[in-house]
Amino acid sequence: MLLEVRDLKTYFYVNGQELRAVDGVSFALDKGRTLGIVGESGCGKSVACMSILKLIDPQAGRIAGGQVLFEGKDLVPLPEKEMTGIRGNQISMIFQEPMTSLNPVFTVGYQLREAIAIHQQAGRAAAARRSAELLELTRIPDAARVLKNYPHQLSGGMRQRVMIAMSLACSPKLLIADEPTTALDVTIQAQVLELLRDVKSELGMAVLLITHDLGVIAEMADDILVMYAGRMVEYAPVLELFKAPRHPYTAGLMRSKPNILHEQEKLSAIPGNVPSLYEMPAGCPFHPRCEQAMEICAERFPDVSKLGDSQGVACWLHAREGGAQ
Ligand code: SF4
Repeated sequence: MLLEVRDLKTYFYVNGQELRAVDGVSFALDKGRTLGIVGESGCGKSVACMSILKLIDPQAGRIAGGQVLFEGKDLVPLPEKEMTGIRGNQISMIFQEPMTSLNPVFTVGYQLREAIAIHQQAGRAAAARRSAELLELTRIPDAARVLKNYPHQLSGGMRQRVMIAMSLACSPKLLIADEPTTALDVTIQAQVLELLRDVKSELGMAVLLITHDLGVIAEMADDILVMYAGRMVEYAPVLELFKAPRHPYTAGLMRSKPNILHEQEKLSAIPGNVPSLYEMPAGCPFHPRCEQAMEICAERFPDVSKLGDSQGVACWLHAREGGAQ
């Protein structure tokens, strides 16, 4: 297994209060597969991925428990010097807004060459050659011109392609993509997703895709993990989950989006709001919004029940159906 996250807990500390942004998340991802992590804003999906790369600001929070096994090696206790060798080389990350990662005062070519030179200790000529190859791989037309451009001279879609090119500079084994198409127009979104799919299969990488968009998940992912209020509430192969969501929250998400597999009479929103980390309800954090909540739901969070080899759900409705993990 390329990546195995076990019972990951990442907590932040604000005014003496412990905020459990990620609270016991586990998943596994193998070479060549795409896992989509889905959930509303603030559910902890981005924090979980930042934790994998150990990018949590130590002034604000810390990994409070669990393991992040990358090719069998736990990254959590690894010293920063070793993590620097893993970030960008073996695990790369792209973000929603490429302008936050690209430096506005340097040309695209300079930034690409720098990334290659730092991570691969390549000389000037080799880095320049590799930059051109990467732009070709990410199907950027007129690469010679783009290399001379500054980020602000490119469209949003082109900037995201440059970021993808940069993230591939060292042929990573794992690419973490955090809402990579959210800031783009729909047609450009489709092109960037297609590009991600193609480079993934060309390079045999694994992709961890974070999104709130179930349409993107349906297009891209093999497996899906649903998070709510820092907890994992359901995981399954994508088709299984789209056909028969087990957790009431997942079912609510499906009803609030156009369904790709079934005809649907009308869309319906999940009542209420995602709870704040400051005021997390006891028990199952979804219980104030859940139409099927029972007494026990307000008292205890259910363990994840396995519903087969690759499917599980954390909900009292299914607690007796599968063996708790
Ligand atoms: Fe609803 Fe209870 Fe299941 Fe939570 S555990 S989703 S409140 S039924």
